Amino acid sequence: MAGVDDSLDRVIGAKTAKLLAEQLDVRTVGDLLRHYPRRYADQGQLTPIASLTPGEDVTVVAEIRSCSSRPMQQRKGTIQQAVIFDGSRTLNLTFFNQQRLPKVLVPGRQALFAGRVTVYGKQRALQLTHPRYQLLDGDADKLAEFSRALIPVYPATKDLPSWTIQLCLRQVFDVLDEPADPLPAQLRALHRLLTLDAALRAVHRSDDRAEIAVAQRRLKWDEAMAVQLTLARRRQQVMRRPAPACPRRDGGLAAAFDATLPFTLTAGQRQVGELLSDELAGAHPMNRLLQGEVGSGKTVVALRAMLQVLDAGRQAVLLAPTEVLAAQHARSLRAMLGDYGRAGELGSAEQATRIALLTGSLPARSRKQALLDAASGAAGIVIGTHALIQDRVSFADLGLVVVDEQHRFGVEQRDALRARAVDGTSPHVLVMTATPIPRTVAMTVYGDLEVSALRELPLGRSPISTTVVPVGEKPCWLERVWRRIAEEVASGRQAYVVCPRIGGDDAAGEDAASEDGEDGGRAPLAVLDLAPQLEQGPLAGLRLGVLHGRLPGNEKDVVMQSFTAGEIDVLVATTVVEVGVDVPNATVMVIMDAQRFGVSQLHQLRGRVGRGAHPGLCLLVTDSPEGTPGRERLDAVAATTDGFELAQRDLELRREGDVLGALQSGRRSGLKLLSLLRDADLIGQARQAAQQLVETDPELTEHPALARLAADLLDDQRAQFLQKV
Ligand code: ADP
Ligand code: MG
Repeated sequence: MAGVDDSLDRVIGAKTAKLLAEQLDVRTVGDLLRHYPRRYADQGQLTPIASLTPGEDVTVVAEIRSCSSRPMQQRKGTIQQAVIFDGSRTLNLTFFNQQRLPKVLVPGRQALFAGRVTVYGKQRALQLTHPRYQLLDGDADKLAEFSRALIPVYPATKDLPSWTIQLCLRQVFDVLDEPADPLPAQLRALHRLLTLDAALRAVHRSDDRAEIAVAQRRLKWDEAMAVQLTLARRRQQVMRRPAPACPRRDGGLAAAFDATLPFTLTAGQRQVGELLSDELAGAHPMNRLLQGEVGSGKTVVALRAMLQVLDAGRQAVLLAPTEVLAAQHARSLRAMLGDYGRAGELGSAEQATRIALLTGSLPARSRKQALLDAASGAAGIVIGTHALIQDRVSFADLGLVVVDEQHRFGVEQRDALRARAVDGTSPHVLVMTATPIPRTVAMTVYGDLEVSALRELPLGRSPISTTVVPVGEKPCWLERVWRRIAEEVASGRQAYVVCPRIGGDDAAGEDAASEDGEDGGRAPLAVLDLAPQLEQGPLAGLRLGVLHGRLPGNEKDVVMQSFTAGEIDVLVATTVVEVGVDVPNATVMVIMDAQRFGVSQLHQLRGRVGRGAHPGLCLLVTDSPEGTPGRERLDAVAATTDGFELAQRDLELRREGDVLGALQSGRRSGLKLLSLLRDADLIGQARQAAQQLVETDPELTEHPALARLAADLLDDQRAQFLQKV
């Protein structure tokens, strides 16, 4: 008998076991059992030679009629020809340089042949060239095995055809001890799930598609539970640490700030604000993801949370993905706080605080001052980029970490900041993202965070219209794009022109992932090429500015400030303007080589316009032909401005693998059956179940098989990957 941990060579013979290990990373009985069929072929797909069509990959069971070998006429080498018969028709097979083949393919023997159907000669006869074969030799058992109503089709390799894997599994099942079931009986009963043993047997051996579907559902639960348990335990670990409690205080900065707000908060901002306020007051760390459309007003929500923390005598840090954004946050928080943000300066309010900006490109003196202010507690709010983490900045009493635009930060970076709190406490964490995340992705990739969303935009937002400009089909439209910019500028507005690449000597683009290479290998358009062309051509006379990641930090800042101040009409930039940049007077966003950007990136970029009183216009310039994936993405972006709808559509357009990435990659473990698109309900239920389990049994000591499952399906690397997208 054999158990799941047994090495395969004990069960199936060393040669095949070695191939499985080398080519599919399948080493133990358990690995093989989790090597699920990719699909199932009806028996009909297996046989009749009469129904073969050229180009198909087929598997045929047939009897050998003849097999002969002869030298080739024009070239060196030999050719072997065989004829097989399936009971009603014959089919020719051709092999090369297999002189011993006639000794193997002896007339009368039965075998399975797999290969691609080709045509040859004037008669356009069908044949299989160099098919793989498996002798059945009147082995009734094997024959039965391959004439089942449903044949499982396994992920295979050249040396390990699907049928070999099928035969190995058959041998395994003959000796398999019933494996311990990781899912507790109660859970199985509640969700009506098969036992692991029954599910594995059905998924590999059943002849009934309905039965297989039931088995797959059970096996998807294994995968969903592995992911959700990992996340639930991570949530639990964070939650169990003590947090710096930051209760609300009457008459503090938060209250004073609210009284001076120039607008009314939206209902969503108020609700989320209440929730954050309660969680900040708690004795365990808040760990929350705030999703909100571009321009939905997340910053003010974060600021109000920070002020509550300041009122409790602690500090808050705001982490931004780029220097541009960090500097902009510093400016806008200072503006919003007014006198309350100028502690130590003349005329500041009594309970005022100080805002320190800390970025990599700061002059040494300012940097030293900022670090001092953070360490002494003089700065209540510290704003910065990754430099914050790298510089080992210390805080007097860190209460809250706000991470803006989550998709640029990984879990290690959040953890690095968490570790900055004093007395072994773990600060509250608020992560904000404007990239709407489909529910299932939020539950898996960001599953260690509680999720809130701001779904409405503040009043007074202007609509944005989006148009695809297909310069491949309509080259003259490009001229109209530039004319449109000139018109907007003439009426006092400003524009962005975004390119995928910086130019100069850069080999790669700044951020834009080249998605499909549909532009025939042409280098993507570059800021440093386009800007002078525009300046001397269609946009002559307008004030152009250039912004990209290779500019020194202070220059970036100067450019951004002149654009904000209206001293630059058109900003030619890379995706550095993607996130958070807020210039309400900008109304046109032109994106060049738009097919090179992903859906959420395009949505982000588009969100830079329509932020003021004037309607926004987004022009997606592309030479991708209609019907290509790149063009489909652009059409999707043009079709809706609802980020949540777009996120869902994006998930459908992209292969899921892009989202789950490492989680689904790898051959032995990882997620094989679970689909973020189709299994949303199951994932939600698993999340709940995992949460309950972890609450009563945080270390899973009573559920060792479950702990094993999570560890097996999600090795460390994959577990790390969760929340890193
Ligand atoms: P995002 O969610 O994209 O980060 P911001 O926080 O940058 O959005 O907000 C965009 C703009 O909307 C800012 O200028 C901000 O002052 C303004 N704003 C925020 N909340 C409101 C509101 N309730 N009413 C009117 N304007 C608001
Ligand atoms: Mg923002």
